Amino acid sequence: TYGEDEGDESDLVVRPPVVTVMGHVDHGKTKLLDAIRNTHVVDKEAGGITQHIGAYQVATHLGDEERLITFIDTPGHEAFTAMRARGSQSTDIVVLVVAADDGVMPQTVEAINHAKAADVPIVVAINKIDKEGANPDKIRQQLTEYGLVAEEYGGDTMFVEISAKAMINIDGLLEAVLLTADAALDLRANPNMNAEGVAIEAHLDRGRGAVATVLVQRGTLRVGDSIVAGNAYGRVRAMLGDHGEQVAEATPSRPVQVLGFTSVPGAGDSFMVVEEDRVARQIAERRQARARKAQIGNRRR
Ligand code: GDP
Repeated sequence: TYGEDEGDESDLVVRPPVVTVMGHVDHGKTKLLDAIRNTHVVDKEAGGITQHIGAYQVATHLGDEERLITFIDTPGHEAFTAMRARGSQSTDIVVLVVAADDGVMPQTVEAINHAKAADVPIVVAINKIDKEGANPDKIRQQLTEYGLVAEEYGGDTMFVEISAKAMINIDGLLEAVLLTADAALDLRANPNMNAEGVAIEAHLDRGRGAVATVLVQRGTLRVGDSIVAGNAYGRVRAMLGDHGEQVAEATPSRPVQVLGFTSVPGAGDSFMVVEEDRVARQIAERRQARARKAQIGNRRR
């Protein structure tokens, strides 16, 4: 990693886990992401229509405590692998969705391999338990062959039986995510530094120019900050949450849509805030020149 050092132990504050949902096609990833976001909106008063900006945060209870969880809102493995390919790791926990009426399938195995390669713990969501023919025990059995042994079988992987469609036990799944985070991970970050993180997705909007959803991983991102992401740079003109609401500052694990880039960053690009616009531009231009050079080099070969 680059940029500032994270400071002392005493500067670190607990941050929400960032979760990616993976699993075989049609096992219910999209349905699950919708079910979670619809039932656990952080601030119902914020109003506004849900905007799919690439990630969202939900609030849930663990005992008496209210806790946040960030979900990457792109089902499938592309986002996860794109970010890993660019050297940025955005995900703390993988929720592996397996349909109880089907079983372990090729993309289930692929997801397990991705998570293992990234050293990310897995929570298994056995989905579609509302269906006739659902056989959750078969799923537990099958997954032991891939090293995912359920707690009730003496292992350390949490398995949760859910129905994304019938909205059964969504809370239980969120609780399992938090318990896994608390048991296996030390999720803390320093909010008192220039923000750093990763661009999750970005596009060119006709009216608003370059629009990028970024996930803050360290520090606090504010309107007015000079920012570089990959070859793109700019100054944060506005930040929007996933209900289109204005956000003044974003702390670690918070996803926000950023307006103000002069060009579109790539999905998976790391971003950082620098002291002034001039520095942001210099870094971006140096990277652009390097990218052009590499391109010419490739063509010659
Ligand atoms: P994805 O390809 O993994 O994103 O799967 P989808 O979320 O698109 O779901 C595939 C199909 O399964 C859709 O028709 C969903 O309505 C259905 N489905 C998803 N979850 C459940 C569930 O818990 N129970 C039932 N009965 N159907 C479900």
